[in-house]
Amino acid sequence: MTRVVVVGGGGAALRACLAAAERGARVTVVSKGKAGASGCTHAIDSRIEFSVVNWPMMDPDTPLTYAADLETIGRGLKAPARVRLFAERSGDELRLLERLGLPLGAAGGCARIQLAGSSYPRGIVCPPRFGTRVLQALRAATPRTRVTVRDRAMAVEILTEGGRATGVVALDLATGALDVVPADAVVLAAGGAGNVFSLSTNPRELVGDGYALGGRAGAALDHMEFIQYVMLTVAPIRGWFLVTSVLLRGELVDERGARCAAPVDPATAGPVEQKRLVAEFIGWIVARKRREPGARVFWDGRRIGRPALEAQMPKTYAAFRRRGHDLARRPVELDVGAHQFLGGVVTDLAARSTVPNLFAAGDVADSVQGADRINGSGIMEALVFGALAGAGAAAADGLRARPALPPAYRRESRHGADRLRGWGSRLKAEMDGILVVRDRVRLGALDARLAANLEELEADGLRGADAPATRALHELRSSLLTSRAVVRASLARERDLGLFVTGQR
Ligand SMILES: Cc1cc2nc3c(=O)[nH]c(=O)nc-3n(C[C@H](O)[C@H](O)[C@H](O)COP(=O)(O)OP(=O)(O)OC[C@H]3O[C@@H](n4cnc5c(N)ncnc54)[C@H](O)[C@@H]3O)c2cc1C
Repeated sequence: MTRVVVVGGGGAALRACLAAAERGARVTVVSKGKAGASGCTHAIDSRIEFSVVNWPMMDPDTPLTYAADLETIGRGLKAPARVRLFAERSGDELRLLERLGLPLGAAGGCARIQLAGSSYPRGIVCPPRFGTRVLQALRAATPRTRVTVRDRAMAVEILTEGGRATGVVALDLATGALDVVPADAVVLAAGGAGNVFSLSTNPRELVGDGYALGGRAGAALDHMEFIQYVMLTVAPIRGWFLVTSVLLRGELVDERGARCAAPVDPATAGPVEQKRLVAEFIGWIVARKRREPGARVFWDGRRIGRPALEAQMPKTYAAFRRRGHDLARRPVELDVGAHQFLGGVVTDLAARSTVPNLFAAGDVADSVQGADRINGSGIMEALVFGALAGAGAAAADGLRARPALPPAYRRESRHGADRLRGWGSRLKAEMDGILVVRDRVRLGALDARLAANLEELEADGLRGADAPATRALHELRSSLLTSRAVVRASLARERDLGLFVTGQR
């Protein structure tokens, strides 16, 4: 029986687990958060009005027109066959969800919207708690006898022998124990890295572990320079999205009273135009902050009025109201934060990475997004490529290896938790400085600093004094590696392709 280790507990991981277990593999899920209740999949409804899944349901929209839109928005960076495979297989995954009791098509009675970048209204507005319900349905459908779940266990290393993946080193986050989970194939589904920046939509545990695990095991990473950034609230609730059409009807204002409003009426702007207007808002915020570091920018929605705000953002309006902030009466501070990494571990059409027996799926993989993305594709990417990864891993020809714990994991690090935390905060501040504008001089200096930091961090042992210290050590290691991949990919790209701005300071 093939032994498969799945790293992660979100949509890609649980879909891979189901696919592998259905094919008779023995699966161990190693999940840093609680499997089925962690990651972005679990969080999709938490700081946003509603979640959306794209699927072409109305003639003349088809998977091919959907794929064409993805390629246009992604600037053609991805192989067309890959994008088409994704668009077509999204339908299979929707049908699976329907069989599992989560209908999104006509039977679900869901509203449909046209998202920025889409030629047709193919965004299905999902029912509340959609991400959580997907995870619960996947778990319920998985044959339990063949699956072992290790919650609150952090994968810190993917082990290889003769170039093939043979297992992972897992850190028990409660006890601090480190052990080896042997495998014939490993599925990497550890999500993204929003928290290498100080403001993000991502749950706190997503600090780049997946990219670092893959990269250290020798897997190629690609397109790491492309990170979807968005405008997010800063206080009293951090990291909330405002619905785009509402956001654009308000004005941005800085502390000196300078204002920025959308130059055309957002109500008449089509989805592509809206994407451009959002970019202008972001550009305005970034320009203010670069001119005057520490400057604060607010979104003023007072002219929209309470009835419209309550009607169009009921959840958001109520959440801020509960925290004593009436969006109809007071501006709210906004900043630019990280949402989704668009690159990642390079995989082929069967979700295989460049390392034999290592598969990758979901946000950690360099999948169908390119230089930018259409919202509403993340969950389906996790499911489509998770299914392929799980199936491939179950069929992998494993080495039946019994890998041992590498010696560095037996030696204690000299870096204490406080020092690591300070180091982590400085890293975030430096990465904030390159989220939108990538100055080559700054990138070059940062690359050298990150390399030196990594060398110092890894110079001695990879075990901390206790569980929190070992976790802090490995999370910092992941963030440094991921940040370096972003910096190096940015330096290598001559043209920004629109998502970030190159420039000298
Ligand atoms: C606020 C928000 C709203 C969104 N809205 C939508 C939407 O409307 N529609 C849409 O399609 N997509 C949306 N997305 C994107 C979507 O949620 C993601 O693309 C998708 O859920 C990614 O799934 P995943 O399984 O790859 O990663 P995740 O769901 O993030 O799961 C990652 C898992 O890996 C675990 N993990 C991390 N590191 C380790 C480690 N070292 N060892 C073991 N386990 C580890 C985590 O604990 C977690 O369980 C949204 C995302 C956010 C944050």
